[in-house]
Amino acid sequence: MELVKEIEKLKRHKKAVILAHNYQIMEVQHIADYVGDSLGLARQASKTDARIIVFCGVKFMAETAKILSPDKKVLLPVKDATCPMADMIKPEQLLALKEKYKNAMVCSYVNTNADIKALSDVCCTSANAIQVVNSLPADEVIFVPDKNLGHWVSIHTDKKIYSFEGYCYVHRRFKREHIEVARKKYPNAKILVHPECDPDVVEGADEVLSTSQMIKYVKNSNHKQYIIGTEEGLIERLKEDFPEKEFYSLGRPFMCYNMKKITLKEVYKALAEEIYEIKIPFEILEKAKKAINEMIKYG
Ligand code: 13P
Ligand code: SF4
Repeated sequence: MELVKEIEKLKRHKKAVILAHNYQIMEVQHIADYVGDSLGLARQASKTDARIIVFCGVKFMAETAKILSPDKKVLLPVKDATCPMADMIKPEQLLALKEKYKNAMVCSYVNTNADIKALSDVCCTSANAIQVVNSLPADEVIFVPDKNLGHWVSIHTDKKIYSFEGYCYVHRRFKREHIEVARKKYPNAKILVHPECDPDVVEGADEVLSTSQMIKYVKNSNHKQYIIGTEEGLIERLKEDFPEKEFYSLGRPFMCYNMKKITLKEVYKALAEEIYEIKIPFEILEKAKKAINEMIKYG
């Protein structure tokens, strides 16, 4: 409680805002001014008039906030809270793909580092990937880095998609067998999965949604039971928001370790010492901003 009060005090004093992703631990979500999925957080970062943004999530999300609000100080409370999928693709690999598919436009998932966004025509999130790709004025699209989201997009478009081979180690742990077991055990439940899951899991689910879209879906649905195929933090959140409904993980719950590195102690330290500041070279930031703004325009 003392720490929460101190954080509130520092926040007011320093004109800071705290943004948190849906996978963050509940204590962190509780002190945040805004909690959401990657798309919601990007939108929020572009709107805020705070002087400092404390970003409780992983590095690519804090970088996106910096790109959209370059004049603000953006802090990531734990320096090595990174997304392994975002680190899977290097600029040389994307340049090679661009050389190979000369007529294709490049759509990069926001789960990428800023240097990849800077080489892209547009970004997307799990919430708007299909919409964004379908809006592009090209028949061929290079999609990086998540091959599963790339596959999900490819079955909802007439465009030719060239996907990179990246993946999320958390979502790839959900298996088709988990769907079969869940259907038997909870025949009346709705199965909601994230598009980062493997294609056979996605195929067997009832809905394929971003994290915030899952929350919205549950809010608007009359069903009592839900099987959730995404990181376990979202399940905790759903249980708290909808105590009258039941939530089970698809298979056993799986954790994204980097998303759990931030605790209240790190948030306090980040605010007090103004660490760790996100810095992006001007040229990369300007190019990446174009790709993110294109996304915001489309979806
Ligand atoms: P959302 O944008 O759906 O919150 O997903 C982000 C993410 O990292 C999923 O693993
Ligand atoms: Fe990256 Fe997967 Fe963690 Fe999301 S859940 S931040 S994609 S490692």
